[in-house]
Amino acid sequence: MIITVTLNPAVDKTIYVEDFKLGNLNRIKEVRKDPGGKGINVSKVVAKLGSKTVALGFLGGSSGEFVANSLNDSPIRDQFIRLEGETRTNLKMIDTITGQETEINEPGAKVKQKDLRRLENRLLDTVGTDDFVVLTGSLPPGVPQDIYAKLINQVQASGSKVILDTSGQPLVEGLKSKPYLIKPNLEELEVLVGKKLNSLEEVIKAGQKLQQEGVTVVVISLGASGSLVISKQSILHAQPPKVEVASTVGAGDTLVGALAVKLTAGSLKEAIRYATAASANSVAQSGTQVCNKEGVKELLKQVNIIDKSIKIVS
Ligand code: ATP
Ligand code: MG
Ligand code: MG
Repeated sequence: MIITVTLNPAVDKTIYVEDFKLGNLNRIKEVRKDPGGKGINVSKVVAKLGSKTVALGFLGGSSGEFVANSLNDSPIRDQFIRLEGETRTNLKMIDTITGQETEINEPGAKVKQKDLRRLENRLLDTVGTDDFVVLTGSLPPGVPQDIYAKLINQVQASGSKVILDTSGQPLVEGLKSKPYLIKPNLEELEVLVGKKLNSLEEVIKAGQKLQQEGVTVVVISLGASGSLVISKQSILHAQPPKVEVASTVGAGDTLVGALAVKLTAGSLKEAIRYATAASANSVAQSGTQVCNKEGVKELLKQVNIIDKSIKIVS
């Protein structure tokens, strides 16, 4: 089973405005609301690919109910803790003339100590001995920076594996607990190592260092250039097929979700092949749509996996 944790979910509200003028009265042409949050997106991908998934985290108020209702209509099992505050709304404004996108995100409802304890208990009650737990996204106010580190220790002590997809200090702290897999994108990796990485070789070296420090699998995603997968056994460069890009939103979440699905059975190489096809399929879909199984299958043969191990190891 794949369990996802979204500590700071959101309602993603997209407004379409024709020729937006700062400081003026602008009229909205169209509004859409979608449940948001990286863990929820990962669960959506997992469910789409036909595997069992449970989503945990915090929800509150009417926005929280909106998110919960959307889960009700899906195969995702809702194990969210309800808290007193209101789940945040993240606003995205699209100017229909210029195509320019502006995002304004709320920090999220404050989480109390007692809520955190309830979440920890629920996670430990939910997790079995060979599940994958995906910890992903930013932290809401009130949650300590080392929360992921703590959850990793607890989950991995029970025999399950953690996939950590976050950035900044929660990633720095989380690494200390040696998660099974991390998936920084290039920018997140550069922030982590504190320097620009100017070649594939430099990226591989940085990834190898993290692997040697205790992360079993380091996946560095490189957008249209695919991903590098670094483990003790091999260094692989997964190259996606060329697809017409409709929306890159959620490409990383699709990579993570599909990896989790395939890692439960099968080799790392086949898992990254599948996940690369899935995320390519996802970028070819517009808006918040995730991948679909048939589309992924069609792209599988077009994924190129290059073994970089031989050249690099020194
Ligand atoms: P997110 O915004 O969802 O967090 P991310 O920045 O973490 O995304 P990316 O590196 O942008 O993740 O993308 C994840 C994966 O999606 C890549 O490793 C690649 O396999 C696939 N992907 C991204 N962009 C493209 C593209 N233009 N064509 C094909 N595949 C792509
Ligand atoms: Mg990206
Ligand atoms: Mg990402």
